[in-house]
Amino acid sequence: MTDITQKSDKALETISTSSQQVDNNGASRPIENKTSPRSIPMKAGFYLVATPIGNLRDITFRALDVLSSVDLIICEDTRVTGKLMSAYGFKQKMHVYNDHSTDEQREYLIAQAAEGKSIAVLSDAGTPLISDPGYKLVRSAIEKELYITSVPGPNAALSALQLSGMATDQFSFLGFLPSKTTARQKALQKWSEVPSTLIFYETGPRLLDSLQDMYQMLGNRDAAVMRELTKMYEEAKRGTLQELIEHYTDKSTPKGEIVVVIGEPEEVEVSMDSIEDQLKKALSTMSVRDAAEVVARATGKPKKAIYTLALKLGSSAPK
Ligand code: SAM
Repeated sequence: MTDITQKSDKALETISTSSQQVDNNGASRPIENKTSPRSIPMKAGFYLVATPIGNLRDITFRALDVLSSVDLIICEDTRVTGKLMSAYGFKQKMHVYNDHSTDEQREYLIAQAAEGKSIAVLSDAGTPLISDPGYKLVRSAIEKELYITSVPGPNAALSALQLSGMATDQFSFLGFLPSKTTARQKALQKWSEVPSTLIFYETGPRLLDSLQDMYQMLGNRDAAVMRELTKMYEEAKRGTLQELIEHYTDKSTPKGEIVVVIGEPEEVEVSMDSIEDQLKKALSTMSVRDAAEVVARATGKPKKAIYTLALKLGSSAPK
């Protein structure tokens, strides 16, 4: 999935697993060597460790400490996490836990933690559980009153939001949209009236279709397509949805990993008279459904409310 093959630089290559006996997973004692991971006594339980989304140096000292100290590392794919581990000089054994893992596999991990093992939970890249596996494991650990902690770090959605230029005071993270148009439009419809920035994970091959559905269901909002964040070819394309559609229509399928950020709906002051006038005009040449869609988009008003009004106007129009 994520490309973590970028060359680490010299400083990173020298990171070793040298051990220093210090306090429990923590900050209360001075860090003598600020860059070397420390082997630290670990409480039994689960450590949800965020890992780089592209740039190998985006890892915290605490994440390195935890990775060098836990009894067990679980990850989605040992080949992907293996590359990361060897880049930091770690040689620990890894175990696979992902969306295909069985209940028995999860119960085994819960039993391990209950018996005193410390377990790091990693996804292929970024923050575990965020559009990645781990939720059921965390639920089970909470039920069993086991220790769980977050070791925070990279997350593509938040980096994209920071760089998008969209309002950050309220945002909704929607993960991946459905791949089929009808389901995707339905999903978007639910969010069309929500007054917040919207964040979606996307893939290159689906980008253009998704942008078109976003335009249709959300109107011509400001948006940003953030690609290959933290990597060598990081790219941000900002514009209205219409401009972005035009841009990607002329291009070959964009490569790499993508986050789409959509600005909040604009508060447009439109009088009821004006909406009715626009609807009447549209109804003279279009079906109720199409007229409602066109006017909803033009006025920035919720499609459902406009559709109800269009039905009313349509039925009272002279035949
Ligand atoms: N848990 C991860 C996180 O914290 O960001 C997300 C995992 S999700 C399975 C993978 C999706 O995240 C990709 O398809 C893409 O939409 C987004 N993503 C991950 N890395 C990215 C990057 N470097 N640049 C842009 N988007 C990225």
